[in-house]
Amino acid sequence: MCAKLRVRWTITPQIPPQPWINCNGCGGPRAFRSSGKARLNANGRSLDAWLIYRCVGCDKTWNRPIFERRNIRDIDPRILAALQSNDPLWIRAEAFDLDALRRRAQRIDEFPEFSIVKDVLCEACDWTHLEIELMVPVPARLRLDRLLASELSVSRTRLQALSEQGALCIVSGHADSLRRRIRAGIVVELDLSADAGREGLWRPRAAGMPI
Ligand SMILES: [Zn+2]
Repeated sequence: MCAKLRVRWTITPQIPPQPWINCNGCGGPRAFRSSGKARLNANGRSLDAWLIYRCVGCDKTWNRPIFERRNIRDIDPRILAALQSNDPLWIRAEAFDLDALRRRAQRIDEFPEFSIVKDVLCEACDWTHLEIELMVPVPARLRLDRLLASELSVSRTRLQALSEQGALCIVSGHADSLRRRIRAGIVVELDLSADAGREGLWRPRAAGMPI
């Protein structure tokens, strides 16, 4: 077993995706942003729930169905509680549900801004290999090579070269994962045994802290 510095990066996009919906106020398709609010409507034992969006042009609302005409017994109590309290974390997660949005809109704008938290999972003394595990709680529009290049301060050309030399491996990913959108479960392993800048350059960037 080789000596590793293992880190975990948690990447969270900042702005929820915006579906393009026909807006009566503007008279054509417009981007709609999540208002961060949900609405629950009861009709006897039957419930409807929506996420509320607003047109970026005229502020008109669009209600995105979460469920419609659902019997109260068939609704997960945690979801019901989240809707009743307008739980901001639950609503935020729903607002990033790209699959649900794709069922409602042909065009969806996504935004590149993200925050990143870096944690050291374990560190062998005299480590030679850097292992980066990605946590992506909600879909992020970010290519793996762009993320690695910006966070590790190396060029994408160098990353590609490392990959071709076998010094950069993507565990549990596709062969062309470097050019693909990041997702949870991707683990990147870098063999830095020949690199004298391990402690001085790579470690602070990977672990997000000064030595
Ligand atoms: Zn509008």
